[in-house]
Amino acid sequence: MKWLVGDIIEIESLEGLTLEAEIVKVTCPVCGEEFIGTKRAAGGFIAGHQAYHEFINSQDLIVSSMGGQ
Ligand SMILES: [Zn+2]
Repeated sequence: MKWLVGDIIEIESLEGLTLEAEIVKVTCPVCGEEFIGTKRAAGGFIAGHQAYHEFINSQDLIVSSMGGQ
């Protein structure tokens, strides 16, 4: 399915029916990856990137605190 930003769609899933779901585009400020989809999915994309980048950053801090690169 090809979704365009600004489209209003209906989504039927096992969890329920979402009406007036707007397709949005979000960009990760850290790595620039872009996502187009529902706001709910965009929230998952943002949260996933936040968790991922925090994890990578924490790994870098541990490595540098041990004298590595
Ligand atoms: Zn990212």
